[in-house]
Amino acid sequence: MNKPETRILTQIGSRRESKLRLRWIVTLCSLPFFGMVAAFGTAPDTAFSFVPTRAVVESLDLALQAQPADSDQAFWREERFGRGDTIADLLARLGVNDEEARAFVARVKAERSIQLLRPGTTVQARTADDGTLLALRYITDKGRLIGFDKLGAEFRAVEQQLALVPQQQMKSGEIRSSLFAATDAAGLSDNVAVQLADIFAGDVDFHRDLRRGDKFTVIYEMFYHEGRAIKSGRLLAAEFINQGRSYRAVWYADSEGKGGYYTPEGKNLRKAFLRSPLEFSRISSGFAMRFHPILREWRAHKGIDYAAPTGTQVKVTADGVVEAIGRQSGYGNFIVVKHHGGFSTYYAHLSRFAEGLRNGTRVHQGDVIGRVGQTGWATGPHLHYEFRVNNEVRNPLTVALPAALPIPAQQLAAFGKVATPLATELNLLRDTNLALLE
Ligand SMILES: [Zn+2]
Repeated sequence: MNKPETRILTQIGSRRESKLRLRWIVTLCSLPFFGMVAAFGTAPDTAFSFVPTRAVVESLDLALQAQPADSDQAFWREERFGRGDTIADLLARLGVNDEEARAFVARVKAERSIQLLRPGTTVQARTADDGTLLALRYITDKGRLIGFDKLGAEFRAVEQQLALVPQQQMKSGEIRSSLFAATDAAGLSDNVAVQLADIFAGDVDFHRDLRRGDKFTVIYEMFYHEGRAIKSGRLLAAEFINQGRSYRAVWYADSEGKGGYYTPEGKNLRKAFLRSPLEFSRISSGFAMRFHPILREWRAHKGIDYAAPTGTQVKVTADGVVEAIGRQSGYGNFIVVKHHGGFSTYYAHLSRFAEGLRNGTRVHQGDVIGRVGQTGWATGPHLHYEFRVNNEVRNPLTVALPAALPIPAQQLAAFGKVATPLATELNLLRDTNLALLE
């Protein structure tokens, strides 16, 4: 905490207020430090406040007047702003109630804080118990902290350039209930968890395939500002052991800066089809466990059912062209996408379609084509997904699918220089952890 803040805090007088002061020191410290809120707890000495001193002073005063003494739990949530997301979607996931979100978007649409927000950015929001948005923060790729605080009825912009220094970090964990529970336990941010799921999305369906006892190891960038961890960056290498089978990945960018994930042997991890058509997030990943089991009995048509909250993003699993989009009594709102090689995929019970999608629209793997719903014959919100080969329903797991191109032969030497040390570190970490578990 910097000096001016401390000075302001110590101006508060009486005994009762000094108790309040202590609370507020903790609260201030645990406010806007990126990536750490959910991941690393809120110990004051690991925390860092970026709010300009002036804004802190004012929000502090307001807070002391407006809030009861025991409402000192600053409630920050973190979500990734995805491709195809609207600001309203993002705010809803961040726990900002709809009414407030709509009014908010109308007010600040033209502001820099919203215009600079790019897909893939992790955004943190602080809300009141009733869902009122109190503050929002994100850090741009160039290390600019941007956001605002709500002061009374107004929003005050916050902006600061951070001198971010990257460092490699390594963590590992074991899945007992869910991936997010495991990454929380390992002190990893949601950003890292989602990247892990994205990297292996061609091999593992993170909604259905995870088992207790699955293990992961990750090597990733962590950015520091003045010695404090601020935000996690790119995953550099990872191993995921799913049902006893090991999948490994290293990040490699060629001389032109174009990068991707490969096995340590140089095979491309990108597959023609994603294993799951559902966006992987903290909310969607935990939903199936709370879902009514009656859905499991409805399997006459041999699709795969994904229970997920209404509004969860549905992604097209491979490049293709929309062959049909419309409504049927059984499927409800549905989309059929035709792919190369006689493959087609079906997405049913949608609550809505992506804007502008119609017959003949070209789509790319991972594009958001609609949202989960329960239209048609559905007893709860879920996505019904079918995978067909020459119009026959097939289990995608049993169909051999082509992968993207491996590392070209002339780049294998350069690739090895990056991949070998990372693979060695992964091995070392795995062996260390196995020894600890024994
Ligand atoms: Zn179904």
